[in-house]
Amino acid sequence: VYNRDADEAENSLRELAALAETAGAVVLDGLLQRRPHPDPSTYFGRGKVQELADIVTALGADTVIADTELAPSQRRALEDQVKVKVIDRTAVILDIFSQHAKSREGKAQVELAQLEYLLPRLRGWGESMSRQAGGQVGSGGAGMGSRGPGETKIELDRRRIHDRMAKLRRQIKGFAPAREAKRANRDRFEVPSVAIAGYTNAGKSSLLNRLTQAGVLVQNQLFATLDPTVRRSSTPDGREFTLADTVGFVRSLPTQLVEAFRSTLEEVGSSDVIVHVVDGAHPDPGAQLATVRDVIGEVGARDLPEIVVFNKADLVDDDRRLVLRGLEPDAIFVSARTGEGIDELRERIAERLPQWDVELDLLVP
Ligand code: GDP
Repeated sequence: VYNRDADEAENSLRELAALAETAGAVVLDGLLQRRPHPDPSTYFGRGKVQELADIVTALGADTVIADTELAPSQRRALEDQVKVKVIDRTAVILDIFSQHAKSREGKAQVELAQLEYLLPRLRGWGESMSRQAGGQVGSGGAGMGSRGPGETKIELDRRRIHDRMAKLRRQIKGFAPAREAKRANRDRFEVPSVAIAGYTNAGKSSLLNRLTQAGVLVQNQLFATLDPTVRRSSTPDGREFTLADTVGFVRSLPTQLVEAFRSTLEEVGSSDVIVHVVDGAHPDPGAQLATVRDVIGEVGARDLPEIVVFNKADLVDDDRRLVLRGLEPDAIFVSARTGEGIDELRERIAERLPQWDVELDLLVP
């Protein structure tokens, strides 16, 4: 459902399709509806829901994914009408993260995010149930009908979930010292650090490979990278630095995940330079830039030196280069695939790294 910009809506839907494929689904069809507001009860309008139900039947689909975060009641109402499972964008993203989490810390963070997503949905269900029950007994007191067995079970589930979440939070806190120690170690030996940030699929892993010959997993999938990978590299004049790949961003990354991955993203906040990779061939690079900068700001890294890199230059013609230049005059064009611009990127990193000037140290008493 969209209100204003059709291109924007299509980009978002295309990204959702890519997300669904990454999660292992086969995407059969897509449907857009333009209306000023989503329908409060079924999200799509009545005619559109019917059309959706017809398409589901005709294609034999077993799932509908809505490009939004659905209210629990909307999800149920939609399921009643289309007769197959209905999920939302957030559920897909959480699913992908849970498939890709490898480290124990990553796994704990994703589970926490999933429970955070689940909790209000459980409560919403409980509340609407009790409201219905209250309605049946007429004008009874506010508490009437709200203490049924369903409610007790939900209370119990909620308590269990809260307990589990508390445990996960403690575990995640426990991982922090090890991460800190590693970081402190790097600091002590004065190895400057560079973080690669950027939208999902922009080519961060490929670039990391180019710069380090490390052989990191590269996939044409969203979120191939979940846990930060730290490697060593060096500038053209032989100075060493560490290079960290970070989790990819997507539009409307569920807030639960931004929170969950804060510690991973802090890797960005504590680096000396950020290499912000943008897919130069993407239809909407401006939105990617803005999304990533929002998150960079959230982890307190707004003031760090940033090198904007338009990747996939092999796919970008001269006219488009001009447009991209207009967006970011200081950006450089590289191709992780062909190697174009990689030397320039190394030089740019060298310029922005903190100058560790031995002579100056000797001059200052
Ligand atoms: P990440 O999610 O940002 O880490 O992105 P990846 O490094 O996994 O790359 C995503 C996709 O883009 C993969 O299919 C890569 O092969 C492709 N890719 C990466 N860099 C380039 C490039 O410079 N040119 C082209 N044509 N494709 C690239």
